[in-house]
This record gives sequence, structure tokens and C-alpha cells, in this order.
Amino acid sequence: MKQSDTKSHPSPTVIPRSDHGISRADISESALKVLYRLKKAGYAAFIVGGGVRDLLISQHPKDFDIATDALPDEIRSLFRNSRLIGRRFRLAHVRFGREIIEVATFRASGDGDGIDEDREHHAESGRILRDNVYGSIAEDIWRRDFTINALYYNIADFSVWDYTSGMADIEAKSLRLIGDPETRYREDPVRMLRAVRFAAKLGFTIHESSASPISSLAPLLKDVPAARLFDEVLKLFQSGYAVRSFELLDEHGLFEYLFPATADRLRGPDADHARLFIRSGLQNTDQRVAEGKPITPMFLYAVMLWPVIQEHARVLVEEGLPDAQAMTEACYRVVGEQQLATSLPKRYGIPMREILQLQYRFENRRGARAARFLEHKRFRAAYDFMVLRANCGEVDEELANWWTEVQERTAADLNQAFGIGKRSSSSRRGGRKRRRRASAGTSA
Ligand code: ATP
Ligand code: MG
Repeated sequence: MKQSDTKSHPSPTVIPRSDHGISRADISESALKVLYRLKKAGYAAFIVGGGVRDLLISQHPKDFDIATDALPDEIRSLFRNSRLIGRRFRLAHVRFGREIIEVATFRASGDGDGIDEDREHHAESGRILRDNVYGSIAEDIWRRDFTINALYYNIADFSVWDYTSGMADIEAKSLRLIGDPETRYREDPVRMLRAVRFAAKLGFTIHESSASPISSLAPLLKDVPAARLFDEVLKLFQSGYAVRSFELLDEHGLFEYLFPATADRLRGPDADHARLFIRSGLQNTDQRVAEGKPITPMFLYAVMLWPVIQEHARVLVEEGLPDAQAMTEACYRVVGEQQLATSLPKRYGIPMREILQLQYRFENRRGARAARFLEHKRFRAAYDFMVLRANCGEVDEELANWWTEVQERTAADLNQAFGIGKRSSSSRRGGRKRRRRASAGTSA
């Protein structure tokens, strides 16, 4: 549908309760409470976005966003447990314990939530940078990206309102931008990343018309603030579909704007190994997400940057730097460069550097120093990373197995494992904070 078509015919297809699969039993109680209270007060109230989409394809929604014709102050006064956020375009967060329901007033035009709040209208590239006009539900669809994200579930009669053939696209498993794709990508280049993210997560195909402009518009991502891209990277790679996201980003020429040095590395010598390594790391993350295990951006960035850092370190060693120092220097340079594309907050960057620098210590399995390594606060993360390297043939399997087994030994057996004569278990677990040593490459 063309942008102008929708604007001139702002009437939705209404799909009655009997013709769609959304059941109230699958909607969170908190979301229902908010919807019912808005309705009782005489306002229109709809669930919109990912919540409706995921219910329609029988996936468990991450959260429920609500759209209404109540103004922010009206929402605020209806819910004691709410607060208004956002400076120019205000929306309400209604809190129920740990669950937050986001309630937004229909908006006349827009650019997704909270993007570039302080900037002036339209940057040179055509990005929308300003909007503060409340509007009707028919106008609200323009702050949605894909047709499948622009379905509205009406609490008044449990119907779904569809302005953009979103239902048909759900059936067809097709991701289609609302309006003219190029215009919509220029307004907000992050939509290109969102296309890939939803394609990976939902197993949908990006419709030809929405896919074809991507490769030529991809450079627009350079103008997106690094912090926003960091957030997007986490959504792409930490939601359980990292391998698929990686493949699609690569296919559409987007990956190089998120990890430029890594993308270069994937075109250079020994690219196959680097690719294998990254895929294995991402597979590992996907598996952890599937098993409900914790994951951290620190590990993700370690995986993405390792092939680059390793190469830098190798060159520095050739130039005469000692191994550990070369690794430290390479980490600083590569992370520094990465910050220009996607930011990497210190709370992840610092531990990431530590686990990379610790990789040398696995080579040494004799003596008190090797034994103490087991107690290092980053041992476990460094070990996981080393196992990943071993799986890709970078570390001797026998060495990796040794470190696996040694962790299972009793304190008494450990001395023998490390070839230490008289150390007692109490001295090993003595609790004294040990200073990290420059020779291990963890200083500086
Ligand atoms: P997820 O399951 O990942 O939360 P979602 O569709 O709910 O998916 P959100 O980022 O939570 O995605 O955004 C909620 C809704 O807001 C989207 O469904 C979409 O309609 C709209 N939206 C969000 N970001 C943008 C954007 N950059 N451009 C246009 N619309 C957007
Ligand atoms: Mg959402």
C-alpha cells in the first residue's frame, strides 16, 4: 500500500474475534487491567506492535504495548502506578511489580520510540527527528515500521484492526514496510536492522520491495548514534537467533556497519576460520538463550572482535612486543575503533579485555601461579572462551580437556595436578585478593 493510499482511505479492515486466534488468556493480566481501565474511562484502547504480532503467530510476546486516545496526563491520572517518560513525546509506564506496560497516545507522525529526542526536524538524509503531534489511530500506523507490527487489538470488542494488510503478510510470512521503503529507511535507518532482526526471529522473508533498497542505503547506518546501534546489536545477537541474524546482516551488506573491522577480517586471509569462529560463538549464545542460561554482551563482543584482535596482536608480536603486551595493545586499539561504530560500555569492555588477555595463561599448567588462575574472578568466562577456541581448532583439545578436568578435582588433588609440592587446600582457597600481574597481560 502506498503512503498516500492509506492517508486518503483511513479505514481499517476489522477482523472480528471469531476470525483470529488471539485469546485473552494469552495476554498478561497487567495489560488487560490497563486496557479495561482505559475503556471504562471512555477511551479507546488497543494492544499494538510485537504483542499482537506474536500472539497471532503463537509466539510468546516479550511485552505488551498499548495505544490509546487518552492524553499522557489523562493516562497518568488514571493509573497511580504510572509515570510519564520522554521529554517531547511523552508516554506512560504503568508498573505492576516487575512488569511495565507502556501506554502511548496515538501519534500523528513519527519515527519509532524515543529516537533522537533532542534534534531538529529532518536531517539532511531525510531522517525524521522531531514529532510531537498527537493524532488518530489511522495516523498512528505511520510510527510503525512493518505491516505485521501495525495490527491493533481492540479491547472494546476483541477485534483486530488492520490498516496495512498486516494480516495477509503474517499469513505470507512476509516483512513489508508500511509506505515507500526507501523513504521509511531514510527516516530511520535502524529499520534495516529491524527487518533483519524480525526475519531471523520470526523466520519470515523480507519482501522484495523492502529488501532491495537495503544494500544501497546501508551506509546511512553511519549516521546513527553508536549507543543506539549497541542496543540494536544486543537485540540482534542476544535474543536466540544470533546465527541467522549474522547470516542475514552479511547477506544484506549491513554487518560491516556494525562491526567494520570484523567485516574486513571476514574478507581477508584466513577468513574461513574467522567466520567459523564467529558462527560457533553465536551458536553457543543461541543455545544458552534456548536453555535459559545467562548471556552477556562481554562474551558477544569477545567473539566478534577476537579474530581482529588476534591478528593485530600477531602483527605487534612480529614488531617485537612481548605476547601479553601485544594482546593488551591490540585490545585497546580494536575496541577503540569499534566504539566508533557501536559503543561498548566499559562494564563490558573491561571484562572482555580481561578474558582475552587471560587466554595465554591456559598454556601454563604447572606451579602455584597456574593453580591460582582457577580462582581468578574471570577464570570461568575465560575458560568458556578458551573452549570455544578449542572447538575451532585454535587450542589443543588435550589442553582444553585438562582445564575442564582440573576444575572437577578436589582441593587435595589439585596440588598434584599443578605439580605443586606442599600447598595445602587452605592456602589455595585462602581468600587473599591476589594482584593481577603485568606479566599476565592484565595490567594497564
Ligand atoms: P520485540 O518483540 O522485539 O519487542 P516489537 O515489534 O514489539 O518487537 P519494539 O521495538 O518493542 O518491537 O517496538 C514496538 C513497536 O513500535 C513495533 O512493533 C513498531 O510498531 C514500533 N516501532 C518500534 N521501533 C520502530 C522504528 N524504528 N520505526 C518504526 N516503528 C517502530
Ligand atoms: Mg516490543
